[in-house]
Amino acid sequence: MTKLTLRDLELIENKLRKRQQDLLEEIQSELDERENQQLSAIMGNDPGDDGDLSLADALADLNVIRVDRQINELREVEARLLHINKVNVNECADCGKEIGLQRLLVYPTAVRCISCQERYEHTHVQGNGHPSL
Ligand SMILES: [Zn+2]
Repeated sequence: MTKLTLRDLELIENKLRKRQQDLLEEIQSELDERENQQLSAIMGNDPGDDGDLSLADALADLNVIRVDRQINELREVEARLLHINKVNVNECADCGKEIGLQRLLVYPTAVRCISCQERYEHTHVQGNGHPSL
């Protein structure tokens, strides 16, 4: 297992933050004006760096089915951001082997190595039919 350097972690974290921003924008544009006001109120509450308050959870409370997929992905992004400095983000959740840095940079929320991910997707049919490799 190669330990990721701080620089590697920083790159992954930047990708995650960018994705988080994109998702929030997508969610915002999907919502109508009334919901937007609620959303602004939520996003105006800066959770700071402690990360205890999850935007994804707050958004899920709005019960907006249209943005379910984005909220789920946002959840994954936030979960990874929370743990990026605490766990081995490059350790496969299934087999414990190393997830390559290149893979993590393309899929910063990946929790499995490619072979485990393929097996996972064969056994768990994805609701939207799009593999999240
Ligand atoms: Zn694996």
